[in-house]
Amino acid sequence: MRPNELSIYLISSDDQVFENERPLSEAEPPLGITEEVWVKFDSDRHGNVIHKERQRAKATPSLTRQFWAVRTEHTEQTRSGEVQYAGVCLVQDDKVLWTASIGSVGRATPANDGSMAVRTDDAQGFRVLSSEGEVTISERFESNIGAVAISPDGTKAAVSTAAPDKAVHLYDVRDQIYLGRVEHGTETIGHIDFERGDDGWVLHTYNTAPESDLDVSPVRKEVLQQIPVRRHANELELSGLAISLNGNIWHHVPEENVSEVKGALRVPGVELTSSCEKQIRPLGVQIIYQDVAAAQNSKLENCAECSESLQSFPDSKIERTRS
Ligand SMILES: [Zn+2]
Repeated sequence: MRPNELSIYLISSDDQVFENERPLSEAEPPLGITEEVWVKFDSDRHGNVIHKERQRAKATPSLTRQFWAVRTEHTEQTRSGEVQYAGVCLVQDDKVLWTASIGSVGRATPANDGSMAVRTDDAQGFRVLSSEGEVTISERFESNIGAVAISPDGTKAAVSTAAPDKAVHLYDVRDQIYLGRVEHGTETIGHIDFERGDDGWVLHTYNTAPESDLDVSPVRKEVLQQIPVRRHANELELSGLAISLNGNIWHHVPEENVSEVKGALRVPGVELTSSCEKQIRPLGVQIIYQDVAAAQNSKLENCAECSESLQSFPDSKIERTRS
């Protein structure tokens, strides 16, 4: 089959360029959007990922378009002829820098430094590959993965999960640290991306990517959550209440102190003892969060003393499972 010049681009890892084909670097899809491409390759060098002399692939550019994550199709393994993705490679200036045969790859998105976040084709594996193609983070989820993202500078990565977990998981790629899990509470998060905030990276969640050409209600392309990219305490273990007297700082009230007053909070005379040993009268306070996680994910700051008692920061992945 001859590639069509309007929709098909060529990655050339040698100097041969076919007539009527354009190099990948001239592709102009919207930012972050995956393009279907044909690749031509040097089979001696890239045989582990690119099997035929020419084959279909999907290519996703970095924001700067300097790098492309290209995952190649492989149809030979399945009897039904179903498409599987065989692996992924990093392309710069229309040259393949490296290939990684890490099993079938369902999504791959590169940072501006050539590192990339990858979802395996069975939708349960998450990998981060360095700009040299080495696996730096490898995780497996029981829940299906919706979206993956890597910050433009390649230092942070994130993955969203569907039910029963319904959360996003954050990673510090540079320091190899699991930063934690934040629930998104919706059925599907189809897109996540990193934005630079005042205090570092912030992760945005969406139903559908804002750049997507899918014909969906514009509401579905709006930001759902803005999650600060820092360590997050284990929400699965948080209990009790969060109370803010002034709308700036919140205190934690342990579950056992809440149950003493039997749920009647905003009543004259009721006093609660916070984790920092402060006596709080809920009647006059500005905000009461029945869910500590909601306070934690808000813009309010946690009282420094209370936060010590709440420090259940996970060192490795935590996930809500069916059992
Ligand atoms: Zn406190």
